[in-house]
Amino acid sequence: MRRKLIAGNWKMNKDIHETAELVNELKEHLKDFRNDLHIVICPPFTSLVVARGLIKDTPLKLGAQNMSDKEDGAYTGEISGRMLVTIGCEYVILGHSERRQYFKETNELINAKAHRAHAFGLTPIICVGETLEEREASVTDKIITTQIKGVLAQLASVDLDRCVIAYEPVWAIGTGRNATPDQANQVHRLIRKLVGQMYSWAVAERLTILYGGSVNPSNALDLLSQSDIDGALVGGASLKADSFLSIIRAGIEPSQKVFN
Ligand code: PEP
Repeated sequence: MRRKLIAGNWKMNKDIHETAELVNELKEHLKDFRNDLHIVICPPFTSLVVARGLIKDTPLKLGAQNMSDKEDGAYTGEISGRMLVTIGCEYVILGHSERRQYFKETNELINAKAHRAHAFGLTPIICVGETLEEREASVTDKIITTQIKGVLAQLASVDLDRCVIAYEPVWAIGTGRNATPDQANQVHRLIRKLVGQMYSWAVAERLTILYGGSVNPSNALDLLSQSDIDGALVGGASLKADSFLSIIRAGIEPSQKVFN
């Protein structure tokens, strides 16, 4: 069974007061939550300690949005994996397209960060995805293949069991235009096939692959019902409790216990 996961990427939103408000609202609704689905919130660094205090004894898990590829030392402005672990993070998003676009992160750097995340016991959520130009030029598969081989380079099979991949087409992030369930599932299948070739089919079958890009309460169920979509990385819709909770509900098998 693959782990199902819904993660909220808050990006550069929510100060400590707004963080407390949102986490308290989520907590209130998740009081009776009993499910294997992992729910991860990724607030900005400055809010992690506040969120950590509030999520104790709740199903919410903590993730960061980025980390350094270095262990520690003279890297002004950077945050290390060890700092994230000691603050209570279990997950870290790596290689988000906004980091690739605005901070020039490369597959090599993201790969170095993934190695470092594993060394500290963090589960990286590694993002890949093509731009609109690349999709229109029909090179999506080639781009995804290069990204997957690059970001996973030299990771061991055991590391793959503590890795999550997020397929996030760049043209779908924050645009209100999501990939269709079929478009997304095709790329998820490609990612699983690549991981199968690089490792083994058993490793690929266990890998959690999230879809991200304009997921909202109206499209979540269709996306999350696809065979190879194991959850969602949610940006805008994770900033409000009601929309994030609706997406969480869509990620739970109808036969399983729901929550209020
Ligand atoms: C994201 O930032 O990872 C994302 C998917 O954003 P949005 O849901 O707003 O498109």
